[in-house]
Amino acid sequence: MTSLAEKKLPRVSARSGRPAPELIFGDLWEFDPSPETADPKLKTRYDLFIDGQFVAPKLGKYFDSINPASEQKLAEIAQASAADVDAAYQAAKAAYDNVWGKLPGRERAKYLFRIARLLQDRAREFAVAETLDGGKPIKESRDFDVPMAAAHFFYHAGWADKLDYVAPGRKVAPLGVVGQVIPWNFPLLMLAWKLAPALAMGNTVVLKPAETTSITCLKLAEILQDAGLPPGVVNFVTGAGDVGAAVLNHPIPAKIAFTGSTEVGKIIMRSLAGTEKKMTLELGGKAANIVFDDAPLNQAVEGIVNGIFFNQGHVCCAGSRLLVHEPVAEQVLTKLKNRIKVLRVGDPIDKNTDIGAINSKEQLQKITAMVASGVKEGAEMFQPACRLPAKGFYFRPTLFSGVSMSHRIAREEIFGPVLSILTFRTVDEAIERANNTAYGLSAGVWTDKGSRILKMSTELKAGVVWANTYNKFDPASPFGGYKESGFGREGGRQGLLDYCKLS
Ligand code: NAP
Ligand code: MG
Repeated sequence: MTSLAEKKLPRVSARSGRPAPELIFGDLWEFDPSPETADPKLKTRYDLFIDGQFVAPKLGKYFDSINPASEQKLAEIAQASAADVDAAYQAAKAAYDNVWGKLPGRERAKYLFRIARLLQDRAREFAVAETLDGGKPIKESRDFDVPMAAAHFFYHAGWADKLDYVAPGRKVAPLGVVGQVIPWNFPLLMLAWKLAPALAMGNTVVLKPAETTSITCLKLAEILQDAGLPPGVVNFVTGAGDVGAAVLNHPIPAKIAFTGSTEVGKIIMRSLAGTEKKMTLELGGKAANIVFDDAPLNQAVEGIVNGIFFNQGHVCCAGSRLLVHEPVAEQVLTKLKNRIKVLRVGDPIDKNTDIGAINSKEQLQKITAMVASGVKEGAEMFQPACRLPAKGFYFRPTLFSGVSMSHRIAREEIFGPVLSILTFRTVDEAIERANNTAYGLSAGVWTDKGSRILKMSTELKAGVVWANTYNKFDPASPFGGYKESGFGREGGRQGLLDYCKLS
């Protein structure tokens, strides 16, 4: 890039009157701030959503939801108790028995369409709320989370009157009431993945969002009211892990759907063992992004960056391990270093930001500890010298080269913007290394050869294998894991089958 002196830029920006753009740390241009300005329309206090109404928690307790980018309080969220969870289940059961379970699919479809349209109408407002509450860059919540959430409602609205074709030759029926618990990394999107298929199939729901990101869930409750969804069909209970446990262990639900860590997934499996409840678990991952020497390297580098730095690496299917073919390893590493030097880390509400805030102080501590273990175990670390905001939770994009399979950073989920780079020599070695993990959620393959893509996608033990791309989603395409990444699918026909009885 041309240096500032060579370009002879004016010292004051003609547009803003502020000091002219300057080059910071060598390669990165400073831009004028460009915050998204839509009003997120936040309430100061959010109650529980039970039986179609916002209701105060029985014990009268609330907790704060903060903006991780600034550590400022955004709103108070109701702390549910076991009695509140029970009230939510009673409402869901009554709604199933009296209304929703009897409604024809074509009628349920109308509600799902309405929810999707209302979400589209309020898309900018929801994107800002999602970014403020969770810390993800506005360009992601605006261009990915919110439109994808609406797409899931549209897609499942389309299925609701065609359920006879979900399992040709067999009859499908709803399960009844389902209990759902979701994590903080894609709050609105995970909500849509859970609600839309459950409702399309004719089930009613009690759902708990993650403690740090309840706001868009409760904003969606406003949309459910505006859509005229019958009371009790969807109920939201908020709070920490003990509320999750109350949701999962209640006797009413016929099925439990959980997305979160493998650690909590194992607790759930133990506590539900021996019950009649159906279960789907969407858990952690340690995906390999595999780059062969015949790959289009510049595109691969973009895919790798998208795979691990998207949403600060708070992605279950993040391409957190890069397996690179030895002949191009040095070249790819150099390109990656150059690329991450120009990623903008900072205020997520700014439209230029690439890497926003880490979701919570606890998560920042976990990432920091994992990175320290990588250094201690002898891997070579590279971080660009970007400036981080003084307040809030931030972490620099981080590359580790010289990583071996025995390193913790190669085996454990970090859930942050940290890439571990390993090399391989042959196709078989790539497959062996990629599969050498307790997880099996996703993988990426970068190569010019179609036959190699077919071989890799057959032999990689991962629920999704992307070829010459990464992090591509579609509601019609099922998503889910192998091994410790869980079981069951979300999206597509397979996702619907996990919400019905077959006869
Ligand atoms: P987490 O700690 O497992 O929490 C997930 C949800 O479960 C939260 O709502 C949490 O409540 C609740 N919870 C915690 N302990 C519980 C317990 N003992 N019983 C019942 N519920 C409990 O996971 P997270 O840190 O929020 O999310 C990150 C994890 O989710 C990563 O491992 C990631 O890979 C995984 N994930 C997987 C997928 C997928 O599709 N496979 C998608 C997204 C994320 P609190 O809010 O109080 O923690
Ligand atoms: Mg928050």
